[in-house]
Amino acid sequence: MFFNKRTSPVCLATIFVVLACLALIGLDGWRTWQAREDLLQEASVDTSNMAQALAQHADQTYKEADLVLQVLQEHIAEDGLNERSLQRIGRQLMDQVNELPQLHGIFLYDDNGRWLVSSQRTLLTQYNNSDREYFKYHKQHDDMLPHVGAPVQSRSTGQWIFTLSRRFNKPDGSFGGVVLATISFDYFKNYYQNFDVGRRGAVLFALSNGTTLIRRTRDTATTGKDLTQVPLFRDYASKMERGTVELVAPSDGELRINSFVRLRRYPMFVTVAVSKEDVLTNWRHDAYMRTIGVLFLAGVFATLGRRMVRQIKSQVRSEFEAINAREKSDQLNATLVQLAMHDGLTGLPNRRHFDRNAAAELARQGKDKGSLSLIMIDVDQFKLYNDIYGHAKGDECLKAVAKAIGASRKRSRDLAARYGGEEFALVLPDCDIHGAMALAYNLRQTISDLQLPHSGARNGHVTISLGVASLDPVREDDSVLSLIERADQALYQAKQTGRDRIVTYPGTLKASGRQEQRKPSPSRSRHDG
Ligand code: GH3
Ligand code: MG
Ligand code: MG
Repeated sequence: MFFNKRTSPVCLATIFVVLACLALIGLDGWRTWQAREDLLQEASVDTSNMAQALAQHADQTYKEADLVLQVLQEHIAEDGLNERSLQRIGRQLMDQVNELPQLHGIFLYDDNGRWLVSSQRTLLTQYNNSDREYFKYHKQHDDMLPHVGAPVQSRSTGQWIFTLSRRFNKPDGSFGGVVLATISFDYFKNYYQNFDVGRRGAVLFALSNGTTLIRRTRDTATTGKDLTQVPLFRDYASKMERGTVELVAPSDGELRINSFVRLRRYPMFVTVAVSKEDVLTNWRHDAYMRTIGVLFLAGVFATLGRRMVRQIKSQVRSEFEAINAREKSDQLNATLVQLAMHDGLTGLPNRRHFDRNAAAELARQGKDKGSLSLIMIDVDQFKLYNDIYGHAKGDECLKAVAKAIGASRKRSRDLAARYGGEEFALVLPDCDIHGAMALAYNLRQTISDLQLPHSGARNGHVTISLGVASLDPVREDDSVLSLIERADQALYQAKQTGRDRIVTYPGTLKASGRQEQRKPSPSRSRHDG
């Protein structure tokens, strides 16, 4: 696992703040991008719908004009052409042009391209239209179907017009002429103006052969352009019924969403193009404002987070310092306890320590019906030693003796203490008088073996006297004081009988070797001695 229980709170808080900031920025970034995708998708659907609607409109516009031509075509086939029928047709044409706003005019040409009749008030007989593309087309093709022509400039009005024509035949079936409906460029120009395709968008209405009928932008309307090399036509509109494609226009380098739809009945198509830039203008502004807001929020969050991390850091540091201080104070306490319970000169447990230990051991042995021995030790002729060698040497001597006494302990619960001055004590739990005697004997020997020179002593070196007493077993009415008194009495006897010896409290052991056993004097004080 990445985190464990030991991961520090500062580290966790830092990770939390960083992750929260990243999540805030990331989520908003993702939302903003999603909004952009939705907007483009919407634009794509809108252009497609608009292209579909405009294609239907164009189809309908041409169909209405075509119906007029179809009626004319049938009329001529049935009635033939004479002066009267031409006059009647002329009147009808004027009505139809007035009724259909897309119509610029309707014309009838004979097999040589001469004007027979038109929807206009005056017949411009000076013109001949045999040079027009639609005229040549019908002359060469004997089908009676409508023919959609390229935009031309009207000979009568000079306006741009789109042509839709049909052929009619003479009674013998040979080419009789052409009926022509001209559709106004302005009609489409004005109609397309109603559709908002943005600043850089356009509506294009063109022939399936790639000739532009009208390209309408917000401000301009152009016609006649050849689209055969334009990728939108070349790669898409010329090959498919309908579609939507994103393309960079070679003419202005603009990236547009283009939707194209072919007309159902006539060889033409409509495209609606909107600039991606136009689609995204508002989004860009929103995204910019929101990004500023989110970055500001993330900044505030990061700043607060940093403060929080700092606070946690200082809290952690304080806690650490408190723990340190507590440890130091514990150490200090332990040192104080150590100092309070130990003797400064010899390092042995002091009288206070001895008192507590002896009381505790007495209680414990009392409970367990065990034994407890005490050896009181006193350096012989020590006042004299000080007098002879000086107090400093006396201290050194005491240290050496203390060290030997401390080392004489056999068990961990044995306690060697400095009882006071040049007196020491050994508390020996679970130890009867025999064990205590053996230890005393060894200790006396050890001190003697140290051969610490003492010219005032009888045998020339430092010796000790030992008084041994045991409670075996410890009874309920026994006290530390009585044990001390007994050991003290024995020690007194040792001093009295010549020093450098071990004496046990009477009744506890028979004397052996240099040991002496004397009756304790009930009211003695060793120091008086
Ligand atoms: P005894 O053999 O009867 O015990 O004679 P003693 O001279 O040893 O006994 P006494 O009680 O007359 O003298 C004890 C001396 O121990 C007196 C004191 O100056 C000396 N003494 C006690 N504590 C210290 C200490 O810490 N350092 C030194 N250098 N001397 C001490
Ligand atoms: Mg003494
Ligand atoms: Mg002494």
